[in-house]
Amino acid sequence: MFILPAMDTTSPHYSPVPRALATEAVHAGRDDLARQGLHAPPIDLSTTYPSYDSRGEAARIDAFAATGAEPDGPPVYGRLGNPTVARFETALARLEGTESAVAFASGMAALTAVLLARAATGLRHVVAVRPLYGSSDHLLTAGLLGSEVTWTDPAGITDALRPDTGLVIVESPANPTLAELDLRAVAHACGSVPLLADNTFATPVLQRPAEHGARLVLHSATKYLGGHGDVMAGVVACDEEFAGRLRQVRFATGGVLHPLAGYLLLRGLATLPVRVRAASANAAELARRLTADPRVARVHYPRIGGAMIAFEVHGDPHEVIAAVRLITPAVSLGSVDSLIQHPASISHRVVEAEDRRGAGVSDRLLRLSVGLEDVEDLWSDLDGALAPLPRGAGNCATSHSAPALADETAAVTALRPSRTP
Ligand code: PLP
Repeated sequence: MFILPAMDTTSPHYSPVPRALATEAVHAGRDDLARQGLHAPPIDLSTTYPSYDSRGEAARIDAFAATGAEPDGPPVYGRLGNPTVARFETALARLEGTESAVAFASGMAALTAVLLARAATGLRHVVAVRPLYGSSDHLLTAGLLGSEVTWTDPAGITDALRPDTGLVIVESPANPTLAELDLRAVAHACGSVPLLADNTFATPVLQRPAEHGARLVLHSATKYLGGHGDVMAGVVACDEEFAGRLRQVRFATGGVLHPLAGYLLLRGLATLPVRVRAASANAAELARRLTADPRVARVHYPRIGGAMIAFEVHGDPHEVIAAVRLITPAVSLGSVDSLIQHPASISHRVVEAEDRRGAGVSDRLLRLSVGLEDVEDLWSDLDGALAPLPRGAGNCATSHSAPALADETAAVTALRPSRTP
């Protein structure tokens, strides 16, 4: 049995007994409820918080300006924090094994806050490894926030670092190719430069990048953390020092998460381990069948498992999108229902075609987010949608990006226990 590491007893996220990930998923951020005579977390929709003590408020605002620490007591104003959102932040920090977490209105708002926090210290240069989610790539490439990016492969990270490098950004598994990185080696290559690992695809159920040396763990919480396709959100799990800077940027720029979204995310976390494991088992089986299918040229499925599959077809991928009936043809991922999309047309459309292809995102690639439906129904839909496509010579098992799948290791990994070393 694995347990989450012991915590600093003075931390606001402290729980007295080390608890497993599945237990944290259900209880973290809710530990005070029973003492308050509550079961469901309250939703605090206040935008402002009355106080008859202006001198006290001035001191609290000064303290926030100095450190970015959450003010004691009510938040003064909704942009400084919100108690319902704070519950989600507490819970996510516990799951990722970090001191703190700071939530934002979307994943892109979260990435924006990180870039601004680094730029504010004069460190505008970013080193990044492709592929990244299309809009993340675009935000860096366009230099919209005054950052300058050097794209490199993992082996080139150390050489790409400069005195003004403020951040290294990676995704693993990456969107959309599911390419995986050795996060420990990448963190080592970064030296003292903070590594931001986008953990949207793996979730803390399959991987906790902070344990491997990532200082910042970013999620598009819109995806698995929410899990039902009805919340837009982003979050950065990190140490309290960096969290303070992110709260200050959030206060200054306003990319706050709505409390209703905070509530839905906390509810989503409770089922995260169960959803991820069930969807991963479905995905491992679909990856196996696609690998053996002569209409499919190549399958990408991560060694750590997960519920995402990418595959290249012989023939026209747009025909598959047009033909699915149970699977929803839509961008995004991580919902209880299965979604399929064509990255070159949608999620990675904003990336220059040459850069996109150079990052392994071929024009024939489809990205499938596998949900919780019965796997036979999913296969029947996929099989039907693939029907008009030409067949290649033989199946694609040998070009599979995760050779472990053949001996079922990937499927087993997806079902491993939820406790962590
Ligand atoms: N990171 C990854 C890996 C994503 O897939 C996405 C969105 O698809 C984002 C970040 C951006 O998140 P959001 O759409 O919540 O702004």
